Amino acid sequence: MENLSAIQLRDKIAAGEVSSVEANEAIFKNIEEREPVVGAYISTYRDNALEKAAEIDKRLTAGEPTGELAGVPVAVKDNMCTTFGATTCASKILENFHAPYNATAVEKLISADAVIVGKTNMDEFAMGSSTENSGLKKTVNPWDNTRVTGGSSGGSAAAVAGGLCFAALGSDTGGSIRQPASFCGVVGLKPTYGRVSRFGLVAYGSSLDQIGPITSTVTDSALMLNVIAGHDSRDSTSVDETIAPVCDYLEKLDEPLEKLKIAVVPEFNVGAEEQVQKALTDAIDIYKTLGAEVIEINMPHLDYAIAAYYVIATAEASSNLARYDGVHYGHRSEKADDYIEIYSKSRAEAFGQEVKRRIMLGTYALSSGYYDAYYLKALKVRNLIRADFTKAFEKCEAILMPVSPTAAFKIGEKVDDPLKMYLSDIYTIAANLAGIPGISIPCGFDDNDLPIGLQILSPAFTEDKLLRIARMFEKETDYHRKRPDF
Ligand code: GLN
Repeated sequence: MENLSAIQLRDKIAAGEVSSVEANEAIFKNIEEREPVVGAYISTYRDNALEKAAEIDKRLTAGEPTGELAGVPVAVKDNMCTTFGATTCASKILENFHAPYNATAVEKLISADAVIVGKTNMDEFAMGSSTENSGLKKTVNPWDNTRVTGGSSGGSAAAVAGGLCFAALGSDTGGSIRQPASFCGVVGLKPTYGRVSRFGLVAYGSSLDQIGPITSTVTDSALMLNVIAGHDSRDSTSVDETIAPVCDYLEKLDEPLEKLKIAVVPEFNVGAEEQVQKALTDAIDIYKTLGAEVIEINMPHLDYAIAAYYVIATAEASSNLARYDGVHYGHRSEKADDYIEIYSKSRAEAFGQEVKRRIMLGTYALSSGYYDAYYLKALKVRNLIRADFTKAFEKCEAILMPVSPTAAFKIGEKVDDPLKMYLSDIYTIAANLAGIPGISIPCGFDDNDLPIGLQILSPAFTEDKLLRIARMFEKETDYHRKRPDF
C-alpha cells in the first residue's frame, strides 16, 4: 500500500479495494515504527484519524458522495491553524496555542474528506533551511539519518518520503516547500502568490508566504492543488478567480506541451555542486528528447535575490512577530514584574536564536535612517528581479534551475553559520520575490545516494502548464519511484 500515490490510494478506497481505516492503520504502523528515528511530526491524531476514516468508509459503502481526497491520510505543517491539537510553529512561544479556527487550506482538505493524521515539524516560524531551527524537536532525513531534511517544511517532506502520510501541506516563503522536497526526493509545489489562501497560515513574510503541496508524484501535486486553490474572502491577497481562473489541474496533466520552449540561466548555475549541475544537464537532455527547445538566457539581478530577501523577509517577520507579547498569545514569563518585562522576558525566554536574529535584523532594516538604505533598496531590487522574469518569459514558457546548490547536507554542518545556511536558498528565493510558481521534482541521485531536485519556474498563474511540464519529465524517468529503506 505504501508505494501507492495519494490518487491511486483514493481510487482504491473509492473502488472498495482497500478501506480508509486500513490505509490509516498502515500509516500509523509506519509512524509507530519510524517516527522515533525520523521525527517528522510534532503531533499525531490517531484516534480522530481512525474515527474519520471509519466514517468515510461508511459513507462510501452507503454510496454517498465523497470528496476528492476521500479517506487519504495527509499531514499539515504546524504553522497552519487547526481547531484540533496545538498550532506551535515549532516554537516554545506557541507550544500550547490552540487556534479557534482552521486555516482555509486545512478546511479545504477536510471538506475534500482527507484524513489529517498529524502536524509536522518545521524550522521555528518557518525560518530556516534544515528544520534544525525547530524549538521543539529534531527531524532527520529518511534517506540518511545523519543528514537534514531541508527546511523549513522538513517534517512534511520527511513524512511523505518516509511513508508517514500520502501527501502533505507545506509553506514556502523563500524555498521551504521546494528545498526540503528536493532533499527528501519528493515533489514540492509553491503556487503563485495569491493562488492559495493564507488565511490561518501563521505569518512569517506576508508578501512572500504561500501554502502548497508536498507529494510523491506530480499527479498528486495537481490533485492537492485542485483541493486547496482558489479565492478566499478572508485573505485579501488571494486572487480573484475572474482575473486568474482556477482550473482542473488534473484535466490535461498527461498531455505533453507541444513546441515547448525552456530556458536555462547558465551563469547562475555555476554555484551548484558538480553532481547537481550534472543532474540538471541530464534533465535538460531529457526535455530535448521530448522535443523541447532549450535556450540560454541571462537574468542579471538574480545574484541579488538573497540579499534582498533577507532584508524584506526579516522586515516583515519583525512586524508579524510583534504579536507574541506574552499577553495575546502563548508563553508568558513567570519572572516578569511589570508589563514591559512581560513583553521582553516572555520573548527572550521562548523565541529561539534564529528568530531573535531575524527580528533584530528586520527591526534594524526598518528603523528610521536605515529604511531607505536597506528596506527601500531591497524593494527596488525585488522589482528588478520581477522584471528579469517578465522579460525571460517573453522568450520561454519555463525556466529550469537547480533547487539547491547541494543535496541534503549533514546535521550540524551549517547551523552555526547563518550566512552559509542563507546561501543554500540561492535558487529558490527569486520565485517568492517575483510571486511566480515553482516546482521541485526528483531528477537524480548523487554518489551518496541522496536525491537531487530539478526546479521548474513558470509565469504567474500558469500552474496548469508548470505541472504538465513537470509531468512530462516524471513520465520519462523513475527517480520518483525510489524510496528510502527502513
Ligand atoms: N530558508 C528560507 C529562510 O530561512 C526560506 C524559509 C521559508 O521558505 N519559509 O527564510
